Amino acid sequence: MFEVLPQLPADPILGLSAAYKQDTNPHKIDLGVGVYKDEQGRTPILQAVQKAQQILLANEDSKTYITQQGVQGYIDGMLSLILGAGHPALLENRVSGVQAPGGCGALRILAELLTRCDKDLTVWVSDPTWANHIPLIGNAGLTIKTYPYFDKANACIKFDQMTDCLSQVKKGDVVLLHGCCHNPTGADLTHEQWQTVLEIAQQTGFVPFIDIAYQGFGDGLEEDVYGVRLLAANLPEVIIAASCSKNFGLYRERVGLAAMITPNTQTRDITQSQIQNVARGIYSMPPSYGGALVDIILNDPELKSLWMSEVTDMRVRMQSLRAMLVNKLVEKGASKDFSFVNQQKGMFSFLCISPEQVDKLINEHSVYLVGSSRVNIAGISNQNVDALADALVAVL
Ligand code: PLP
Repeated sequence: MFEVLPQLPADPILGLSAAYKQDTNPHKIDLGVGVYKDEQGRTPILQAVQKAQQILLANEDSKTYITQQGVQGYIDGMLSLILGAGHPALLENRVSGVQAPGGCGALRILAELLTRCDKDLTVWVSDPTWANHIPLIGNAGLTIKTYPYFDKANACIKFDQMTDCLSQVKKGDVVLLHGCCHNPTGADLTHEQWQTVLEIAQQTGFVPFIDIAYQGFGDGLEEDVYGVRLLAANLPEVIIAASCSKNFGLYRERVGLAAMITPNTQTRDITQSQIQNVARGIYSMPPSYGGALVDIILNDPELKSLWMSEVTDMRVRMQSLRAMLVNKLVEKGASKDFSFVNQQKGMFSFLCISPEQVDKLINEHSVYLVGSSRVNIAGISNQNVDALADALVAVL
C-alpha cells in the first residue's frame, strides 16, 4: 500500500542539521535550528531544571496516567507567568488551558479546536512566519492567508501594510501573532503598535491567536508578554500557544500550553471540555515529565529565581552576540549596514541577504543558516565570529 506515497524532501530546517553534521570542514558554523547554545556550542540542562529533576525523582511515586488536562500546577504556573498572577481573566475563572506536547502540540490542538468552531475559518499569519506554523495549522483543515509583516529591503516591520491588511479581516477570522521574538525575523511590535493591533481587533472582531515560544529571550520575562497581556485584558477572546522548549531548555521533553481566554466561566468550561476532547482523540493526554519539572520550578521561590537568572543570562548573552557580530562586520568593512541586528529580539535575526548569498555561505563557507537568511544568534561564539564575519563580507 505504501508504494503510492512519494518520497518527501527533508524538512528545510531540520535538514540543515543533517547537512551540517555531514560537513567535514572543521570550521563549520551552525546557525540553523532554533536551539540555544552556550559559548562551547552546548545546549546545557538548566541548573533549575537539574534541581527540579532531583526533587521529582525523590517524590514521584507512580507512573500512572496524569489527568487529562495535564499537570494542573504547571498550567496555573504558566498562566501566571504569561498573564500575570492577578490578571482579571484568571481571577474571574475565564481561562481554559491544557498542558500540550510542546508549543507545536499546543498550536495543533488549538487549530483542531478552531475547525470545530468553523471548518471554513481563515487564519492569518505574518509574512514571513515560522515555517512550521503553516502545516501545524493548515493540516488541521483551516485556510491560511498571510498579512504583510517584514520589509526585507529595509529590515523593518511594514506596519502600515500590516494594519491595512488586518483592518480588512472578517469578523471571527483568526490572526496569528508572535508574542515576542518573532520567528524568523526577530522584529517585534512596539507597545504603540500592539495598541493599534488591539484597536483593529476591537473594530473588526478578529480573534488573536498568540504564539509565545521565547518568553524572556527578548527584553525580559515581564516585558515580553506586554502584547499578550494587553490583548488578553481588553478582548473577550484570545487564544494562546506557549512553549517551554527554549526558556526552560526542555526541548526534548515536549512541554507546551494551549490556553483560551473566554468571555465567561460557562464558555471557559465548554472550551476546556472541547480542548481535552480534541487532545483525547489525538494523543489522549500529554507526557507528564516536562510539565512536572516546570511546576516544581515555578512554584518554588528559590528555584524560580534561579531559573529567572538563567533566562537573563541566556538573553544577555544573545544580546552581546548580536553586538559582537555587528561590530565585527563594521571592523571588516562589510558593504552592508547590519546595525538592525542589534534591534532585533530573541534567538533569531534575519540577515536580509539573498537566497544566492545564503547558498554561498552554506556551500562555500560551511556557514549553515535557513534559506530565508534567518540565523540562530546563539550559534555565534567568540571562536567563530571572525570566520562568520569574513564569510558574510565575502558573499555580499
Ligand atoms: N512557535 C514558534 C514561533 C517556534 O519557533 C517554536 C519552536 O521553534 C514553537 C512554536 C514550538 O516549539 P516546541 O514545539 O519545540 O515547543
